[in-house]
Order: sequence, then structure tokens, then C-alpha cells
Amino acid sequence: AKETSGSHFEFYTDILKDSIHREFMIRNFLNRAIESDEFILHYQPIIDLKSLSIVGSEALIRWNQPNLGFLAPVQFIPIAERTGDIDAIGKWVLKEACIQTKKWQEDGFGDLSISVNISVKQLENKLFSHTVIKTLNEVQLSPEYLYLEITEESSISDSIKIQENYNKLTEFGVHFSVDDFGTGYSSLSKLNELRIDQLKSDKSFIDDLEVSKKIVDTILSIGKNLNLSVVAEGIETKEQLQYLIGNGCDLGQGYLFSKPKSSLEYEKMLKRNYFK
Ligand code: C2E
Ligand code: CA
Ligand code: CA
Ligand code: CA
Repeated sequence: AKETSGSHFEFYTDILKDSIHREFMIRNFLNRAIESDEFILHYQPIIDLKSLSIVGSEALIRWNQPNLGFLAPVQFIPIAERTGDIDAIGKWVLKEACIQTKKWQEDGFGDLSISVNISVKQLENKLFSHTVIKTLNEVQLSPEYLYLEITEESSISDSIKIQENYNKLTEFGVHFSVDDFGTGYSSLSKLNELRIDQLKSDKSFIDDLEVSKKIVDTILSIGKNLNLSVVAEGIETKEQLQYLIGNGCDLGQGYLFSKPKSSLEYEKMLKRNYFK
């Protein structure tokens, strides 16, 4: 803000201009980011809470932009959804994550699954299922290892294109997981109808377990009753872990086990593969 102005209005318009300028730059840089190799994937382990061993990984994108620095997904994924770049980015994420998982499987780290975040925009693209199936075939990764993480918004959608993508992919053997479960508006009958396999309870509930115990218990019982596995996200403390184990939660993820790591660092952790 200009020192001399003394006006709140000018102060906010400056901030607005800055953010518009930033979005403008991000938009411009986005479409070259793939060919310039600026994206990388980090991986965070998904832990079986009975054996405390790693059974899968979630792929999380990061962008190392030469002018803007290291960007978190919240800073560019929403923009990529608006520009349409999300399709190309999503394709890259899927392929990279599948190649890496295949390699880890071949290197003897066990039957690791891979969870990939999918925007509703991607699911609305009628070529989406084709892209996924083609990628799995090329990489020679069996579909049972792939979990597509979708939002509650996608899970209740009546869009024909989304439904077709679901149907083709579940028929092919790919799994679906509902991310941030409990924050949106899932319909329990839809979860059944769509043959959803997994719920990921939103990390805000685990964060605030004191207040959210009943919500967590409810999610766990929905999982039991509908025969879906439940992943508790955002586990940061031993107390949270104890509560979840005590209440029959199958899977967990969070900083208590590991932050998302580069493939190199992740592999070092796979070599140990236990958190006892
Ligand atoms: P999400 O799918 O809910 O991913 C979980 C986020 O929580 C990740 O943030 C992860 O680093 C963070 N997290 C994991 N454990 C803990 C914990 O114990 N405590 C806390 N405080 N945080 C934890 P990240 O990597 O910044 O990703 C943010 C969001 O960006 C993701 O939320 C997902 O919606 C989106 N995203 C990430 N990668 C992709 C992608 O490849 N494609 C799409 N479409 N979206 C992506
Ligand atoms: Ca996710
Ligand atoms: Ca989540
Ligand atoms: Ca989220």
C-alpha cells in the first residue's frame, strides 16, 4: 500500500492487483511447466493400523517454478482447474505415480497401492477413463493397486460423463476413494451404488478429536456397515493413533508417520517399512 494514501480502499485494491498479477503469472507459467519438467511428486505413506506397515502411498504434486519458487498445490491446482491445464497435469501425475509404484513393486517393496487425487474437472472429461486405462496398460500396473481419490462433490454428481467414467473404471478394476469425507454432501446410497471402496476422513476431524469423536465414530461405522475401508488422515499424535486403533480404523496417514517425501527419501523409508 502507498504510505501517503491513508485509504483502506487503495490498500485492498493493491492487494487485489497483486493477487490478480500473481494469478496471471501462474496462468502463463502453467502451460510450459510440464515440458520444462517443473512438477514433482511427493509421496506420503498410508499405514495399515494393525501391522503398522506401509501398504500404499498418496501422490501429492509440487511445483518448482523458476521465478516463483516452490509452490504448494493449493496455490496452482484451483487455477489449473480454471484454465483447463488440469487435464494435462493430471495425466502427468497419474503416469508418474504409476511408473514409480510399479518400480517400487518390482524392487520388492511389496504390493504397494497408489492413491492419486482427481479433480472433478478431470472426471468430467469423457476421455478420462480411456487415459487411465491406457496408462495402466502402458506401465503394466494392475488396476487393483490404483485408488482414485475423488471429492464428495464428484461422488454425488449426476453428470453422465462422470458416471460413465466411474463405470468404465470400476469395471476395469480401479478403486475409488472419497477424499475429505464428512466435509461435503455425500449420499450414502450413492456410495453403495457407485461401488466406492474407501473413505478418507477429513483431517480436520482428527485435528480436533476432542470435539469430533462422534463424527469420527460415525465415519468408522459407515465404513463398517457399507463395507468400505476407512483412512484416517492427519494423524499427528500417539493419542490420536491410539483412539483410531481402539475404534477399529483400518488405515492411517499423517505427520506422526511421515510428511510427504520426495521419491528418494520415500524409498529410504520403504526400506524400513514399519512404525512400531
Ligand atoms: P488432500 O488430498 O486432502 O491431501 C492431504 C494434504 O494434507 C496434503 O497437503 C498433505 O501434505 C497434508 N497432510 C498430510 N498429513 C498431514 C498431517 O498429519 N497434518 C497436516 N497438518 N497436514 C497433513 P498438500 O500436499 O499441500 O495437498 C493439498 C491438496 O492439494 C490435497 O489435499 C489435494 O486436494 C490437492 N492435490 C495435491 N496433489 C494433487 C494432484 O496431483 N492433483 C489434484 N487434482 N489435486 C492435488
Ligand atoms: Ca487426497
Ligand atoms: Ca484429504
Ligand atoms: Ca483436501
